[in-house]
Amino acid sequence: LLPVPTILRVIPSTYSPRTGRLLSTNTPEKRTAIVTGSARGIGKAIALRLARDGYDITVNDISAQAALVSETIAEIKSLGRNAHGHIADVSSEEAVADLVNSSVSNLGPLTTMVANAGIAQVKPLLDVTPADFKRMFDVNVVGVHYCYRAAAKQLIAQGTPGKLIGAASIVAFRPFAMLGPYSASKWAVRGLSQVYAMELAKNKITVNAYAPGIVDTDMWELIDDGLAQKAGRKRGDMIRKYSHDLISLGRTSVPEDVANLVGFLASRDADYITGQTMIVDGGIIST
Ligand code: NAD
Repeated sequence: LLPVPTILRVIPSTYSPRTGRLLSTNTPEKRTAIVTGSARGIGKAIALRLARDGYDITVNDISAQAALVSETIAEIKSLGRNAHGHIADVSSEEAVADLVNSSVSNLGPLTTMVANAGIAQVKPLLDVTPADFKRMFDVNVVGVHYCYRAAAKQLIAQGTPGKLIGAASIVAFRPFAMLGPYSASKWAVRGLSQVYAMELAKNKITVNAYAPGIVDTDMWELIDDGLAQKAGRKRGDMIRKYSHDLISLGRTSVPEDVANLVGFLASRDADYITGQTMIVDGGIIST
């Protein structure tokens, strides 16, 4: 047999011959993501997932989590990607602007913002104070707005397309009792993401949110403790009850279940998806 000259070998194209659009996520282009609240939990899983997909990552969290930020950075670097840490409270407009600037100075042009940072509180609505409500919205809603806006301004200045992705929750579709301000804040993230999607489509920036169900993280531990106390049950009882009664797939989720969805939403495979809040809940919504 004669050796086949390289030029005659069939090289699968990653571009559609008809539309010229990218067909595969295995693109060699450099991608850089900021993931807020990525010292631990879902944010950390997203940061590691995107690093595995070839992104350089800016890891963000509040100062109390500085040690965990360093750990996340070390894990990303061990995957062969570049990582940069920036402490910022997402409820501060100025701090978020600095976060985006420091990411660009350290890692280069931005492609992706994952506004993941969030807080939760378990309280009956009749006990919720104005300060409770304000802090919940400052972090979970206004914080997402600051992240989307600062990233969008950067992408527009770069003249490049990009992806904005925010943390909603299953409670934005099916609220839980005792999670009033939290549920309201996550409904707000759905609405905010939709309006951003409409306004930024002309800039080729897509905006979507993810809505996890029950994910095994420190936040869920806090919620589970609170719900168990109010129901006069032991911690852990609630997880068993929910897994059995509420979750079709019969198990709570791990942060990587959510990171898989975010990896998809961040990828070029999701180029035609915008204004959506996608549920990843093991079937809670369908029970
Ligand atoms: P987590 O509490 O384990 O982690 C959240 C991280 O965000 C923490 O490291 C925290 O320090 C950081 N953070 C909090 N406030 C911040 C601020 N103002 N600025 C910057 N960072 C801040 O929570 P998680 O379970 O990993 O949740 C991540 C996101 O997913 C949140 O938005 C949460 O509401 C959402 N979510 C979680 C669940 C769940 O079951 N765990 C379900 C649905 C949605």
